[in-house]
Amino acid sequence: MTYLAAAIEVHSPDHVKEQAARAAQLGAEMIELRLDGLPNLSEQAVRDSIRNAKSSELPIIATCRDPKEGGVNSHGPDQRLQTLLWAIEENVEFVDCEYANYKEDIKEQLSTAVKKAGSTRLILSAHQFQGKFNDLQVLYDCILAVEPDAIPKLVYQANHINDCFEAFDVLHDKDGDVIILCMGPAGMISRILAKKLGSLVSYASLETAAETAPGQCTVEQMRSLYRWDRIDTETHLYGIIGDPVGHSMSPRNFNSCFENEGMNRLYLPLHVQGEREDLETFLTEVSQRQWLDFHGFSVTIPHKTASLFYVENHGEYVDPLAGKIGAANTLKLGFGGILTAYNTDYIGALTALTQAMGIDKHDLHQCEVAVVGAGGAARAVITGLADVGAHITIYNRTLKRAQSLADEYKAKAKSLDELGELSADIIINCTSIGMHPNVDASPIPAEVIREGMVVFDTVYTPLETLLLKDAKKAGAKCVSGIEMFVHQALAQYKIFTGQEPGADLEGFMRKTVLEALSE
Ligand code: NAP
Repeated sequence: MTYLAAAIEVHSPDHVKEQAARAAQLGAEMIELRLDGLPNLSEQAVRDSIRNAKSSELPIIATCRDPKEGGVNSHGPDQRLQTLLWAIEENVEFVDCEYANYKEDIKEQLSTAVKKAGSTRLILSAHQFQGKFNDLQVLYDCILAVEPDAIPKLVYQANHINDCFEAFDVLHDKDGDVIILCMGPAGMISRILAKKLGSLVSYASLETAAETAPGQCTVEQMRSLYRWDRIDTETHLYGIIGDPVGHSMSPRNFNSCFENEGMNRLYLPLHVQGEREDLETFLTEVSQRQWLDFHGFSVTIPHKTASLFYVENHGEYVDPLAGKIGAANTLKLGFGGILTAYNTDYIGALTALTQAMGIDKHDLHQCEVAVVGAGGAARAVITGLADVGAHITIYNRTLKRAQSLADEYKAKAKSLDELGELSADIIINCTSIGMHPNVDASPIPAEVIREGMVVFDTVYTPLETLLLKDAKKAGAKCVSGIEMFVHQALAQYKIFTGQEPGADLEGFMRKTVLEALSE
């Protein structure tokens, strides 16, 4: 059993009553009472706070954190010990004491009180706010050597997602109840995977900005976005690798699909910061741990090229299309930790365009197409257009980049300054210009857009970019980036699940993403 605990920093007994009711209403499975939040640790205030929390009927962890380990008030050691002793007398299910303080008098009094009560278990916790512990496994063993019946709780700051693997390893090899989590945004996945890997507790906040530790999600996010109730040891994992990934619609989209289809799968944001080496470390670490059950990844900026390179060197198969484009936006992790690479941006862009125009892709033959941008998305779009014989002109801020792409695809290259003289049947924006928060920018001067043109903006935040607003005013046909997103995701779904997307999945994905964007 892994409990989803709502962490409550206690301000007063009345505050606890209201927060505990809210925790129960939101579906939390436990309450962690941070009694150090009380300005005055009087017996009355402590006992009333615990009794008020009990009205929720949820199990309770009582703690009174030492300021050295994140406590919010500077209560002395005697007051903190006394608080835990009162909590044991109130029959809370768990008390949490810092392992560093668990010696001499404190150890003697706490262990005696726990044994006498019989219904309270002791958590011995260690927190490292700067980074990893020197040796997590050794610390885990030391805590159990000091108190074999205790539940070790080991929490450290992950400064990079790759710091989480040590926590996963100790959880995987655990022998009894343990709580292991990583703090910080980079450690967020450890809070969700706690349930798959069998940490006794994961902590979440009741509201955004009410976190008691960095990187906590809200109870609501854990349950609705990250499918907490559905996760078990068999859950298959997927995720989007990128930097940043916080804005990505993919977790919402895929988790909603998995929920809708009754699949035991979970899709995570995987924030892999840094350069090629950091990505390579991440892919090596996940490939080596098949018990983590990762089965596939979407890949976004800036890792598409490096992902392809990694699979070329360490994987088994690169789909020829991904090889031709020079970028992978989809990876599949198969039996034996073998990675294969694909690109679904190509089919996503081509389907979005042809569906909106009501034509077959071969009807794009000899169409005049202006592509703005020469990055990863542009490469996928241009490969699709070149395959059907469209006449392509590439406009880019860095002319040299446009020129080398143009040389590859027998296209023309121009600088952005030449957009004023643009004349084309179709305009496609493959830059991030106009994307939130720079919604007042457009890559194309409004006056070059004419009635009858087709204008496709791959940017989909906001839903209607300034470019699309200008296109609508000019009487051009508009194609939203949402369409590309939906079609590349449908192709990923097939790669991830091995199943042909059902007839209604396209509509379901579109509705999910539109709803998410309108919130
Ligand atoms: P990328 O590889 O980093 O390329 C970015 C492109 O944008 C480059 O051509 C770059 O020009 C240009 N650019 C960036 N900022 C600019 C600025 N301020 N002024 C002028 N040009 C600028 O990124 P990508 O993977 O191609 O993605 C580009 C965009 O495509 C994303 O922002 C995203 O909105 C969209 N996209 C959408 C989907 C979808 O499913 N709808 C899928 C993938 C991508 P330089 O070469 O001069 O740097």
